[in-house]
Amino acid sequence: MKLGLFEIDILSDGTLALDGGQMFGVVPKPLWERHLPADTRNRVRLGLNCLLVRTGTRNVLIETGIGDKFEPKFTDIYGIDKPTTLLAELEKRGLRPDDIDIVVNTHLHFDHCGWNTRLEKGTLIPTFPRARYFNQKGEWDHALHPTMRDRVSYRPDFFQAAEDQTEFLQGNHEIAPGIRVEVLPGHTRDMQCVWIESEGECACFIGDLVPTRAHLPYPWIMAFDLYPLETLANKQRFLPQLAARGALVIFPHDAETPCVRLREESGKMLAEPVSLN
Ligand SMILES: [Zn+2]
Repeated sequence: MKLGLFEIDILSDGTLALDGGQMFGVVPKPLWERHLPADTRNRVRLGLNCLLVRTGTRNVLIETGIGDKFEPKFTDIYGIDKPTTLLAELEKRGLRPDDIDIVVNTHLHFDHCGWNTRLEKGTLIPTFPRARYFNQKGEWDHALHPTMRDRVSYRPDFFQAAEDQTEFLQGNHEIAPGIRVEVLPGHTRDMQCVWIESEGECACFIGDLVPTRAHLPYPWIMAFDLYPLETLANKQRFLPQLAARGALVIFPHDAETPCVRLREESGKMLAEPVSLN
């Protein structure tokens, strides 16, 4: 799909399954299961959405999915029942890993940075050899020293080997013309969303501020969030801005409806699905 002078494409790395209760925080199951039905282990199926932006001079990859560096216990807990697909999705578009110029992760939870690195003959190396990787410094430091509560969400082997190619950001930043990040604390202290803007059109890869379309209601906030009241305040401030700007909104974990436009009606956020094909 064209966005001004840019071309944008959602690339899937497949799906994973997460506990439905963890995904919806204080929202009771009779309400959330109408949107995302649970399997026999109470897990809901979630997409691993990445966004490719071709600006004409740069190929930008936002998020890198979950990768392929798992043990059997990991694939079982997270329901990864098929090989992941990000590199094949790039190849379908005629792109090899060394065609990627810029990699941005909204944060470093394992389901957002899996392909930042890969294993070659037992050694971890950056998957995208020419790319500059953009991460918030605070997120990187926290990912290497998480708390007991959130350490299961981080896998240093998924991102650390790309350190030499990483630009460490401290707050909002323009990464390239038309590509900028905005920090939205809540899910983690330093999570960032990514704005894509060209010729008056705009899209926002919203990160885990709103992981799926079902999380648009303000209090529908994941139990994973370290600062849920900041998530709430940021949703209340940020979603009306997206609606007012007519932005395309891309969700990281919605397998069915990865992209929408928002409309505010009597204090509620309504979503109109948009197909990027
Ligand atoms: Zn996350």
